[in-house]
Amino acid sequence: MSRRDELANGLQAVRERIQQASAAAGRDPAEITLIAVTKFFPASDIDVLHELGVTAIGESRDQEAALKLAQVACRAALEVHFVGQLQSKKAGSVVGYADVVQSVDRPRLVEVLARAAQRRGRALKVLVQVSLEAQAAAGRGGAAPREVLALADEVQASDGLELRGVMALAPLGADPAPAFARLREVAHGIRERHPAATWVSAGMSADLEAGIAAGATHLRVGSAILGSRPRLDNFGPDR
Ligand SMILES: *Cc1c(COP(=O)(O)O)cnc(C)c1O
Repeated sequence: MSRRDELANGLQAVRERIQQASAAAGRDPAEITLIAVTKFFPASDIDVLHELGVTAIGESRDQEAALKLAQVACRAALEVHFVGQLQSKKAGSVVGYADVVQSVDRPRLVEVLARAAQRRGRALKVLVQVSLEAQAAAGRGGAAPREVLALADEVQASDGLELRGVMALAPLGADPAPAFARLREVAHGIRERHPAATWVSAGMSADLEAGIAAGATHLRVGSAILGSRPRLDNFGPDR
């Protein structure tokens, strides 16, 4: 099978799952954005996905993303989401190519992203990442739910940043449904204060149905579309 056929099949299967889960939840699938998470896969895959109708991609490792995106022919037609854990010293680089940073989880990152966006004279869309783990889990990122509102306020108050909503990963080895229900409450609390913060990024290859059931507006799907990645570090910090 050609790579194009593989990607077309993966994408088709994911789109069918989105249709079914939306119908089950009584939601309109048109209000759900599919972000193809292309980390570890080449620029050529991104161009093929774009030909197949993908308009948003996600990357999680700064150096890889910066190099790769420079080789993507359809770059201008894509919305690029940075979804991985982000070191403060990489913020300037990420602002150079990302339209959205989904993984803002501490005040320091708000400061450095805002400064980098101001320097470039642009508006960066931001999601605050919420940790849904029962205990702090190394390597997954996210602010504790009780810290999230203050962080959202900081983003909202920062020139150069546009607060758009929240993002979370389902907790490791636990049922995603109650965790995503918690996320939905956190999102609601933020929206009461910041009405433009309407995005809820939740649901990946293994749990996109749970994300849709809990009101996700953005799904981040990698392996179900692109195939399996090398096992080393799917979620570790960018390098
Ligand atoms: C890799 C990654 C995804 C996609 O994971 P899959 O299980 O391959 O769908 C989603 N979100 C984040 C933050 C990721 O790092």
